[in-house]
Amino acid sequence: EVRVRYAPSPTGLQHIGSVRTALFNYFFAKANGGKFILRVEDTDRTRYSDEALEDLYNTFKWLGVEFDESPEKGGEYGPYVQSERTELYREYAQKLVESGKAYYCYCTEERLNELREYQQANKLDPGYDRKCQHISDEEKQRLIDQGVKPVLRLKIPTEGKTSFDDIVLGKITRKNKDVMVDPILMKGDGFPTYHLANVIDDHLMKITHILRAQEWIPTGPVHVMLYEAFGWEPPKYAHLPNVNGKDGKKLSKRHGSTSIKQFIDGGYIPEGLINYVTLVGWSYDDKREFFTKEEFEQLFTLDKISKSPGIFDYKKLDWFNGQYLRKLEDSKLEELLIPILESSGVVSNPITQQERDIFIGAMPIFRERLVLTTDIVECINFLYNDIEEYDLDILIPKKMEKEDVAKVLETTIPLLEDFDNHSVDENEEIFKELTTTLDIKVGQLFMPLRVAVTGTKASPPLFSSIKLIGKDKAIERVKKALE
Ligand code: GLU
Repeated sequence: EVRVRYAPSPTGLQHIGSVRTALFNYFFAKANGGKFILRVEDTDRTRYSDEALEDLYNTFKWLGVEFDESPEKGGEYGPYVQSERTELYREYAQKLVESGKAYYCYCTEERLNELREYQQANKLDPGYDRKCQHISDEEKQRLIDQGVKPVLRLKIPTEGKTSFDDIVLGKITRKNKDVMVDPILMKGDGFPTYHLANVIDDHLMKITHILRAQEWIPTGPVHVMLYEAFGWEPPKYAHLPNVNGKDGKKLSKRHGSTSIKQFIDGGYIPEGLINYVTLVGWSYDDKREFFTKEEFEQLFTLDKISKSPGIFDYKKLDWFNGQYLRKLEDSKLEELLIPILESSGVVSNPITQQERDIFIGAMPIFRERLVLTTDIVECINFLYNDIEEYDLDILIPKKMEKEDVAKVLETTIPLLEDFDNHSVDENEEIFKELTTTLDIKVGQLFMPLRVAVTGTKASPPLFSSIKLIGKDKAIERVKKALE
């Protein structure tokens, strides 16, 4: 049975890269009838944050991605929070001491700093000098009596090589002398480090595959050595390609939003985000783009993960989001958008029945215009509120003077008077003919008229919008825009 885990450290907000890792794990588990496990790696107490933990749960709830085993849900292999497993790590650490694979190190912070400075000054390789591998029992006792709290270090051989097979990248081999020198397994405070806790837990939780970011490759050999030291079989590894921005650099705040929270607040919906994010570094056949979560759950395979970095394109995400938003059922759209209208003050809070009816009546025409849920505010505010003041920058198209716009708008009034005698499409034709008569471009009439009637360039189709507010109100607004 496939068992995979998402193992975040609650030190910051969930972001595009980490969620991509989680989704790959989740889809791989689903596609193979396996289990998807959440393990909270909170052993670094100095960087731990409650907010990060809360954000973790919120993110997955919002995505609609469920764990089969987790701190909230429990499971056979719990607890699923590392800080609740410290006793276990201590027991296993002791085994490594007994078998001579690990040793206590009594070096003080001070000594390690001096060592670092000395190495830098003399251009020597950095890293621990293994002093405590050779320290005498008396010396140890003396340091313990002084109150030194030792750390536990893994013995890394100075010769030979260590390799592991990576499903995405193939065989990865490192010379042991290039692997970090004797990494710490247990800290002075009795907490394990990432290496120890991660390996023990993956083993005890019967994890079969580790899908994680490429930045973890350097720790691969250390972990493989730990598995060997315990006499365990390591899981299979698949290191995932980086998520980069369009400039080829690792995705970061410089490119735009990266935390999922920002996308949630910014008007994105899970359908769009899941579809797009899963395509960053994975493809089905290089052609097909649309996949629902359920489809990924069927189709996801590891052999389609790319070796090279994926590019995260914000515009593409927006496009996906719009596509999915437009496809939502009426009731779902209502449920998503009405709270936005309420909280932004476009409608009463709570919305009145009359306001809701207007919303429902407008649905067919605004649906096609939405990219983000938050677009609804600018899109249909004109149905509820009069335009306080016109933004002349958009009311007057480029290359037109105020007087020209006034003239054009004047000529629309008689046609608006006649509006109800024609269908929306006929009206569009009639107003187009007017532009021919006036010898102007269509936009030179449609844009000022749109802005006059709706106050914005982001409204739904113009003549449907006029129909919705009614010709009288439209005329009233055109006149106001002329003032
Ligand atoms: N706790 C690590 C992290 O924050 C887990 C890395 C791994 O998957 O081994 O990403």
